[in-house]
Order: sequence, then structure tokens, then C-alpha cells
Amino acid sequence: MTTTTRLLILDDDPLTGQTIANIATMAGVEARYVDEPSAFFQQVRDWQPDFIALDLIMPRMDGVQVMVELARLGCHAEIIISSGVGGRVLDAAARSAAEHGLNIAGVLAKPFSPARLRAMLKHSNSTDNQTGTAPVIGDTASAFDNDISRQDLVNALENKQITLVYQPKINCRTGLLAGFEALARWNHPRHGPVGPDRFIPLAERYGLIDTLTESVMVQGLRWLSQLPTQLDSSPEFDYLRRRLREITLSINISASSLNNIDLFERMDEYCQSTGIRPDRLIFELTESCAMEDPISSLDILTRLRMKGFHLSIDDFGTGYSSMLQLARLPFSEIKIDKSFVMTAAESKESRTVIKTIIDLGHGLGLYTSAEGIERDETLEYLRSIGCDLAQGYAIARPMPPDVVLDWLRKGRLTDESRRLQVLHSLNILDTPPDERFDRITRLAARLFRVPIALFTLVDANRQWFKSSIGLDVPETARDISFCTYAIEHEEVMVIPDATINPTFKNNPLVLQDPHIRFYAGCPVHADTGSRLGTLCLIDREPREFSRHDEAVLRHAAQMIENELTADFLAHADPLTNMLNRRGFDARAQEAIALCHDADLQACLFLFDLVDFKSFNGRHGPAAGDRALIEFSRLLRETFRGSDLIARYGDDDFVVLMVDIDPLGPQAALNRLRAVARAIAQPHPVSYNSGWSLLEPDDGSVQQLILRASDRMHSEDR
Ligand code: C2E
Ligand code: CA
Ligand code: CA
Repeated sequence: MTTTTRLLILDDDPLTGQTIANIATMAGVEARYVDEPSAFFQQVRDWQPDFIALDLIMPRMDGVQVMVELARLGCHAEIIISSGVGGRVLDAAARSAAEHGLNIAGVLAKPFSPARLRAMLKHSNSTDNQTGTAPVIGDTASAFDNDISRQDLVNALENKQITLVYQPKINCRTGLLAGFEALARWNHPRHGPVGPDRFIPLAERYGLIDTLTESVMVQGLRWLSQLPTQLDSSPEFDYLRRRLREITLSINISASSLNNIDLFERMDEYCQSTGIRPDRLIFELTESCAMEDPISSLDILTRLRMKGFHLSIDDFGTGYSSMLQLARLPFSEIKIDKSFVMTAAESKESRTVIKTIIDLGHGLGLYTSAEGIERDETLEYLRSIGCDLAQGYAIARPMPPDVVLDWLRKGRLTDESRRLQVLHSLNILDTPPDERFDRITRLAARLFRVPIALFTLVDANRQWFKSSIGLDVPETARDISFCTYAIEHEEVMVIPDATINPTFKNNPLVLQDPHIRFYAGCPVHADTGSRLGTLCLIDREPREFSRHDEAVLRHAAQMIENELTADFLAHADPLTNMLNRRGFDARAQEAIALCHDADLQACLFLFDLVDFKSFNGRHGPAAGDRALIEFSRLLRETFRGSDLIARYGDDDFVVLMVDIDPLGPQAALNRLRAVARAIAQPHPVSYNSGWSLLEPDDGSVQQLILRASDRMHSEDR
């Protein structure tokens, strides 16, 4: 037929190319598909297509270059730009093509809408027999699978037959619950249970994966937000309930859904409506999915990270990825494929692969996670080589929601002997002072302006002070301790004036040193829920303590609990002994929440050593290390023990000052300058600084860092 419209497709992904060709053929258009530029230009010259569908971003060729070349050839074909990049990028590409004198028929964003493609082709199409009768792509694809049709899957989604099970993920070192992974399940009325390995690829092929992903997200988020309230309302679950408000949920994302910006916009909205912080969600992408199209991946993944979501590379070790790409892409976790983990016990090769991936992950500052742990000895091995997170049948199988609840309840502990067992298993009694807890007791003493603040642990016959401000005895007998009473309840125990309280008025701690008048103690829990001791405030004067004060104290006690469960090894910078970025981010978030709660001012400082790379070059890496250590010392001496100080990047440092100096940020910077002058350094490095004050609507520390960095750069100029 001489009048038939001709469409030439250039796409380096055969599935996409073929999909477009099928839709076009269905619409009565003659379509040819090529996957590399030289064949493409040959066809442009010899076949003279009316339309060209062009993928702009292809890993092995440059789509923009192809457009420039088409313009040079004086090509008159109408160009349809197809790509997975975001609308803005596509629009810019379309504009630039138009400026080169090419005719642009339109932009076809992934996932492809057959109707949209047909509309574009019809635009100047001479054959008009296709209207309304062209089957959609799914029907052509149904031949791919023998018994599950597209309609089956559509029905399943509409009738909510696709549900979720949840598999716990624990912290390897501490054994604590870190989060869950949501896994899709389909119970088909005729076929019975269908595995995700089967229906996920079908959903991808039938163009239903985005609907499926969205349904998974909606179900998962609702489940996560309701989980704490599903537990019995008795106070013994209070602590567990609070922990459950912090855990993460991992969701699997197919490569094709990654391009669906709208989906993630909606995800953002679901997070807001369910009250889940985006940083509690981890999107798991397979290695190949992220590497398929590194340029657009970078764009999309960066945007997701900017929204606060975490990203994990799933099944790591089974695909191919360039180290460079891996380092460039903003992942937070690397998940070792279960094929290595399941065989770790027998196979030395598997263990080598696992160890290598863990070292690689840590080298890149990522959390490392292993799945497919079927034996306790594998978990032990992973712990010994420093793996961060663990998932597998040996810990728990994927479970439907009601079974998850039973599993959680089983972990709870109540009675005193279990409480002591837990306390002793923490190996924290009679250990040296620890800056991590001292920071918080100092903060509590500052905030409430009390002379004494303690983190106490209630042992069988004594209370021992893990951190103590304003008191120099290491312990007191349990039978006279206030904290023994405070750990009997969940509530903050407040004694405004001990001298008139029937229980305490004859207590030796009231009658003699330290002459307690006022006491407020909030229980501190182990992750099992056991009340280990308290964070308490003591004054020698009577005092009132408001509900609001109680909330602030509870918040500080939670900071202690978080320190108890935090994985300090993963949070410290070995060179300077300061917190690293991960450690800072985790704590800064709490500190900001506390400031909002307590209506306190906070200030974030950012420091960047000037030309540190060339400093290293001039003086050698050992001098570079010394300079970093010196700088960290400088910060420690300048700022207060209650501030959060961290090495944030190679040569970047941050400080979060809670309850800022009345003299303001500038006073702190002046102090820093003075201390710097007082310390004699062999090769002093200069630094740039920037700061920003906490504002009422700051939700994340990143906002403060951005503003501080803007200020730093504007002062640069
Ligand atoms: P995956 O993301 O690698 O998920 C882990 C799989 O390992 C799950 O299989 C889980 O049940 C299984 N597993 C966990 N621990 C062990 C263990 O100790 N031993 C063994 N042998 N297996 C273990 P499942 O649930 O059958 O899921 C299979 C795959 O289907 C998933 O692999 C994921 O790629 C895909 N999938 C599941 N749900 C979704 C979803 O909602 N969206 C997308 N896009 N893909 C999903
Ligand atoms: Ca996964
Ligand atoms: Ca996996």
C-alpha cells in the first residue's frame, strides 16, 4: 500500500522498541525497529519514514547526538521522543530539537500510553481504518503467558486479591528489629496462590506494574501506620508501640515504575496523609534496574532521595554494575543477593563474595544488608564480618499482618527476672563514662536548669549511674532509690517536694546528701520493652513540672533509648572519633524534634576545609589526617558537650547546637576563631563556615544544611 504511514523506531531496548512497533502496526502503520544508530541512519535515508520514534537516553548511544545528526541530514520526518526521563527534561529536549529545525510530533513518556501514540501517528495519518478498533498492547502480550491473562490480573487488582506479607529485617549486631520488607502475594480463586516471581513479570509485561506498585505502597503504608495501634493497649506495650513508629518498610520497585514520577508524587502524599516520614520507606531496586539507564536513574533517584525516601540496591551481585555508577547513584543500602547468603555456610566462594560486597558497601558509606539467612550460623558469620542488617527464614518468614502481631508480642518481656536478664545482657553496668549518654544528661540538665541529671540503671540491689551530671557517687542502694519507684510505671514520676511526700520524706537521700527536694524520672527501656532505669532530674529546691516538661523529658529519655539501640560502630568516623554522616542524621532528626517540642532555638553550623585536596597533595595524607583530627578537636573545644558534632563528609563538619547561645551563632564562630588561634598547628587549614537557625516548619535536618550551605557560599563570594 503506497499510502501507508511509515514509522521508524530507534530504541536500544528491544522490548520497548517492539512494544511501540506493535502498537503502531495495530494502528495500521508500517513500523520498523532498529537498535543502533548506523542501521537507523541507513533506514532514514533508504526507507524515508514519515515518523521517527526516538529514545533520547540510551546507555550505549546519545539520543541528542542522533537528533543533531537528523537535523544535519535535513530530515523531514515527524519525531516522537520516547523516554523514561522526567517531563521537564523531555520538554527541554523537544525544544532543542525544534530549534534544530526538526518537526516534533510529540513526547511519549514511559509508561507508554498506546492511545497517545496512536493519536500522534493519526495526526497526519492517511489510513483511517484504525479508529477505536486497535487492541491495546496488553491483549497482544497475553500470548506471552499460557494461563494467566491480562484480564485475570486486572481483576485481581480490582478485587484486592493481591495482598502483602511482611518479613522482618533486624540489625545484625544488636539483634533489634529494624523494619519489614513488604512482599506481594496473590491468591487466585482458580489457580490458587501465585508466586510474585510469576505475576510480577506478567504485570510488567501487561503494563499493570504501576497499578500493582501503587496498591503495594498504599497497603504497606496503611499497615505501617496502623501497626502500633494494633497492639493491645496495655502500658506494657507502650515502648514497643513507640519503637514501631520508627521502623522502616522496604518496598520493591520494578524498573519500569521507577520512571513514573506521578507515582512517587502520590507516594509522598500518602506519606503525609498516613503520617509516615518518608525516611522510613526504603525503595528496593534491582541492580539491573538502576543501571539500565544510568543518566535518567541519577535524575530520578536523586529526586527520590531529596524527598527523603531511602533507596536500596536489591539482589546485589547478580547483575552488572559499574562501580562508578554505583558510587554516583544516591543509594543508602546495598542488599546482598540471597543466592550467596543461602550458600554461605558451605561455600567459601559465597563467603568471599559476601565479604567483598560488605566492604564495598561500607567503603561507599552504605548500609549493608543480607537476605536469605536460613541458618543461625550464617547470621553469626554476617555479624562477625560487620554486616549491618539481616533478613531470612532463620529470623522470620514473610508473615501476614496478624501473624506479625503475634511475632511482635512474643518478643515482649515483663517480669523482673527477665528485666534483670536483659539489663545484664546489655553489658553496660560498671562500664566507663560514655560521651553518647553524657551529651543527653548534660542537655537535660541545661534544658531544665537543674543541678543534677542522671541516667540510672536499676540493678538487683542497687541503682548504678551510667551518666551523671552534678553527683559524684557511682551508685546508691536500691531500697532508697527513687528510680525503683519510677520504673514501676510508664508515666514520668514527678515528686514536686519530697519533704512533704509520704513515701519519700524520711528517705536518707532527702534527709542527707544530696538533699533531694524535687525529682522527675522517666523510664528508659531496652528494645524488648523492659524498663532498665530512668533519665531523672533532681533539684534541691521544690519545683513544679508541667505536662509539657514531662513530654520534653520523655523525649530526652527516648534519645537515650535510641543511643542504647543505635549501632554505634556504623555511626562513628574512625579517624576523628566523631559521629559520621549517618550517625549525625539519625540524632539530628531527634534533636530537631525535641527543639520543636520544647520550643527551643537551634542552630546548625557547617564547616568546609578550604582546598583540602591540595593541602593533602602539598603536605601528604598523614598531615591531612592530622589536620582533620586537629579541626575536630577545635570543634570539641569550642562547642558544648550537649551539642551534636560530626564529620559530615571528607572535609565537611557539622554542628547542631540545641538551645542556642543567647549571643547567637556569631559568638560561637568568634569563639572558634579564638580557640583556633590558641592552638598551635604545624599546617593550619582554613575553613569556610555557614549557619542557619531552626525554623518552625523545618521538618528535616537537610533543610538546615541546605540553608547553612547557601549562606556559606554567599559569604564566599
Ligand atoms: P526479593 O525482593 O529478592 O524478595 C526476597 C525474596 O526472598 C522473597 O521471595 C522472600 O520470601 C524470599 N526469602 C526471604 N528470606 C528467605 C530465606 O531465608 N530463604 C529463601 N529461600 N528465601 C527467602 P518472594 O516473596 O517469593 O518474592 C520474590 C520476588 O518477587 C522478590 O524478590 C521481588 O523481586 C518480587 N516481588 C515481591 N513483591 C513485590 C512487589 O510488591 N513489587 C515488585 N516489583 N516485586 C515484588
Ligand atoms: Ca526485595
Ligand atoms: Ca532480593
